[in-house]
Amino acid sequence: MSSCCRELSRPSESPSETLSRPLPVGRGRSDPEAAQVEVWARDLERASAEDLLSWAYASFGDALTVATSFQAEGVVILDLLHELGLPARVLTVDTGRLPEETLELVDRIRSRYGLRVEIVYPRAEDVSDLVRAGGPNLFLESPENRLRCCSVRKVEPFRRALEGAACWVSGLRRSQGGARSQARRLELDRVNRAGGGLLKINPLLDWSEEQVWERIRERRIPYHALYDRGYRSIGCAPCTRASRPSEGERASRWWWESGPKECGLHPRLVPLGGSGGDVAVGPGLGGAQ
Ligand code: SF4
Repeated sequence: MSSCCRELSRPSESPSETLSRPLPVGRGRSDPEAAQVEVWARDLERASAEDLLSWAYASFGDALTVATSFQAEGVVILDLLHELGLPARVLTVDTGRLPEETLELVDRIRSRYGLRVEIVYPRAEDVSDLVRAGGPNLFLESPENRLRCCSVRKVEPFRRALEGAACWVSGLRRSQGGARSQARRLELDRVNRAGGGLLKINPLLDWSEEQVWERIRERRIPYHALYDRGYRSIGCAPCTRASRPSEGERASRWWWESGPKECGLHPRLVPLGGSGGDVAVGPGLGGAQ
């Protein structure tokens, strides 16, 4: 076994070993191998949200990108970054079907934190083709058409916006269920960049919904107005409704479908052969957005 392989398969010496130094990766540097990411991921498994964000900013600087749809988790991450003094890049996708309340919140957050929010849009010609072929509400007709709409309006602009990023921050929580329950704090994201070199961190992974709202209340963080009208998860206006008692957090997204409540931004987690753990490599399922 080469010295390189010995190092990659060596377990971490302490939970803080990786946290104690920035990663030797980032814009313009070499892409990390899946096995190396797995070692880092194991090391970071107990890191707090604050420690993980600080470590990511030290590793990636302005190549660290927060992607948010301005749900509760997203505004908490922006508040944490503000408190830590970490000026990461912030982006959101305007699909063209967002509730007006989302755009109002973008402005409230901009003014509260003095943030520059990069808003990315789908390609006009792709939206035109989509609507010409299937009508404006094609997503109601079949899961395939729904994913087609998500792909044009959300996933393509998101991936385009991530082209210069080395690592992105998502608001996934394990308690949201589905594939999210298997997510890791650090993942190799080969779904949003097939060629590799993109990492993803999930700083709120073990937070409960209650913890998120506790922070919003304590810090008086501006939040989406639809939460006060019974919503628990918020995406595009025609594909989200208020939650019903006893249903899961994301049951109100694409409620007419029975499959996974995801749009394609978050990778499916599958076992990595020989690593003893899971890393993100599969075709997309997810959508914290
Ligand atoms: Fe289209 Fe609905 Fe997906 Fe929005 S959530 S991109 S409207 S299918």
